[in-house]
Amino acid sequence: MTTQENTSIKQVNCPTCQKIVPWTQAHTFRPFCSKKCQLIDFGEWANERNRIPAEDGPEDFRLDDLDINSQGNVEGL
Ligand SMILES: [Zn+2]
Repeated sequence: MTTQENTSIKQVNCPTCQKIVPWTQAHTFRPFCSKKCQLIDFGEWANERNRIPAEDGPEDFRLDDLDINSQGNVEGL
């Protein structure tokens, strides 16, 4: 008879901070209450997965960059 969607809005708990989040299209980050909580949860998940492979690789490039930068500074002085 009447639409159920309007009367009962489903609610979930934010996995990060346990805040109650209404399950509506307005909440883009559901089941998280905010983008911040989504990033926190995703960050922890990604950290655990990437811990080992991230150890070596791009760090070499970063060290090179720093070296060039500090040399430029010394020459400037
Ligand atoms: Zn939250």
